[in-house]
Amino acid sequence: MFVHQRQGSLEVICGPMFSGKSEELIRRIKRAIIAKQKVQVFKPALDDRYDVSAVASHSQRKHEAIAVKDTTELLRHLDPDTQVVALDEAQFLDESLIPIIEDLANRGVRVIAGGLDQDSNGEPFGIMPILLAKADYVTKLQAICMVCGALASRTQRMVHTGGQVLVGAAEAYEARCRHCHEVPHPTGDRLLEDLTQGS
Ligand code: ADP
Ligand code: ZN
Repeated sequence: MFVHQRQGSLEVICGPMFSGKSEELIRRIKRAIIAKQKVQVFKPALDDRYDVSAVASHSQRKHEAIAVKDTTELLRHLDPDTQVVALDEAQFLDESLIPIIEDLANRGVRVIAGGLDQDSNGEPFGIMPILLAKADYVTKLQAICMVCGALASRTQRMVHTGGQVLVGAAEAYEARCRHCHEVPHPTGDRLLEDLTQGS
C-alpha cells in the first residue's frame, strides 16, 4: 500500500553532555545535504566553547552554523526556501522560538533540535521540556558514567558556582548515571522525606 508521507516535523535529540547529541545532529545534517536538501544550522551565540560559527562535537566533528543571540536574529537569517532547520544547544534558545518552530514544521520544514534535557541539577532545562512535548520524534541518548561505567543520563557539574548556565570547558562537567549523580540540594530526596514525614 502506498502511504503518502507529508513533510514537516520536529525531531528532538536530547541527553546529557558527552552523549553524542552534536555527533547525531551533524550526522542528520550531512544526510540531508546528501539528499540535496537546503539546510540551515543555527546555534545560540552564548555557546562559543569550540567555534563561534560551527556545531562541534567533543570528538572534533564539525559543521558550520550561524550563531544567533535570539529568535529575531534567527528569523533574519532564515531563508524562505530552507527545507531543514537544525538547532544545536537548543536549551539556550528563547521561548519565542517555539511558535516559530511549530509554524515551520506545519509548513513542511524538517526541524531538528539538539539540546540538554536536564541541567546539572537534574531539572528540565530551558525550552527543552516544551520541545520534547511538541516533538514528532524524540531521540534520548546516553553517555557513559565516569564513575561506574553504566549508561549516563545526567551531567555532573565539577565546579561549584551559582546559576543554571555555566558555559565552560568540558572539564567543568562529566557524565553520570542517576545513582552516581550528585546534586547540591537534592529536591527529589527532600520531597520524598517530606512526604514520608507527613504520612
Ligand atoms: P554532546 O553533544 O551530547 O555533548 P558530543 O557529540 O559533543 O556529545 O560528543 C560525544 C563524544 O564525546 C563521544 O563520541 C566520545 O568520543 C566523547 N566522550 C567523552 N566523554 C564521554 C562519556 N563520558 N561518554 C560518552 N562519550 C564521551
Ligand atoms: Zn554511575
